[in-house]
Amino acid sequence: MHKHHSALGLAIAHRPVQPVTLIRPHAASRAARFFVEKFPGRSMYAVKANPSPELIRVLWESGITHFDVASIAEVRLVARTLPEATLCFMHPVKAEEAIAEAYFTHGVRVFSLDSLEELDKIMRATNGAADLTLCVRIRVSSDLSKLSLASKFGAGPGETKALLIAARQAADALGICFHVGSQAMSPDAYAQAMERVRTAIVEAGVTVDVVDVGGGFPSSYPGMEPPPLERYFATIHRAFESLPVSYSSELWCEPGRALCAEYSSLIVRVERRRGDELYINDGAYGALFDAAHIGWRFPVRLLREPESHAKPVEYSFYGPTCDDLDHMAGPFELPADVRAGDYIEIGMLGAYGSAMRTAFNGFGSGETIEVADEPMTSLYESAPERELPANVVTL
Ligand SMILES: *Cc1c(COP(=O)(O)O)cnc(C)c1O
Repeated sequence: MHKHHSALGLAIAHRPVQPVTLIRPHAASRAARFFVEKFPGRSMYAVKANPSPELIRVLWESGITHFDVASIAEVRLVARTLPEATLCFMHPVKAEEAIAEAYFTHGVRVFSLDSLEELDKIMRATNGAADLTLCVRIRVSSDLSKLSLASKFGAGPGETKALLIAARQAADALGICFHVGSQAMSPDAYAQAMERVRTAIVEAGVTVDVVDVGGGFPSSYPGMEPPPLERYFATIHRAFESLPVSYSSELWCEPGRALCAEYSSLIVRVERRRGDELYINDGAYGALFDAAHIGWRFPVRLLREPESHAKPVEYSFYGPTCDDLDHMAGPFELPADVRAGDYIEIGMLGAYGSAMRTAFNGFGSGETIEVADEPMTSLYESAPERELPANVVTL
């Protein structure tokens, strides 16, 4: 892997023709240490947000030992990358073959479910195993989050009691889990969900060993600056302490976005300007899926020296494919004098960015380069810029 000290230095010195993915292991490491030290329970990384093996290793080295996996390919990937990691299979609808391979080949013991059919499937696939931790996923509101996860999964109020009782009988340890939706903009999302957990426990009258508050922890994007994560942790801790669970029960969370959003960004080149529309060399089929399809806004900055002092203007972007859908409405704020040949850094693409990349229309390859400068925004306390060690190859 090539390394460079900064995004700006790289763009100026190398004028890359292809988009370049920048990775910042120090940012992912800082996020992981933050969760490990401050979340009042166990933090596991939701691999789907960014399945890069380099990232998974950085998180492991920073104290994340548990990984939320959702497919057999993710199980195999983490098992291969980190043989000592603990895997939790948290997709509530799994293939029976995937459950069997996870259990018998990879030692997975934690599974989530949201129906009696899935419970039967898990028991069949594991030959009636007696050492399972079964986490019942309940449906909670996504109203306080930017991306809903409220329709597809989760047992409803009418189904939860029977499912908890049945899972209690089958499980060695019983958990309740939920997901408040991605990018939850208020800690209240978790407080409300924990009330649902309380009702479920009281109605079913079961002993619960694990409460898993899922993902949804936010990152910082233009127009979406969330409260500090400490407030989320305090709210969750308070709610957990007041639940009717045993003294030895555990609190878990499954952050995806919050652990990796700051890990990576992208350098793109402007190939053409048409009014306030910039034609750039990555887009909807590359790392900008969310910018195109759900109108997500990412921070941007012009990488030019000397720096432009033109007044800021709002732009939209077109990606490189021939498809009208390859359009990112933004708005993205950049100096008024942006022109073809300029380089732009698009930040906060570590979560749900590179994970979505395709090779459609012949675009999509490009280098990945490690940089040591700071991400464009950070939710974690900023550290001084690191010096690169002397043995680092600079491009
Ligand atoms: C996607 C997902 C996560 C991660 O969600 P973020 O919003 O990225 O934190 C965690 N758990 C489950 C079950 C998921 O599906």
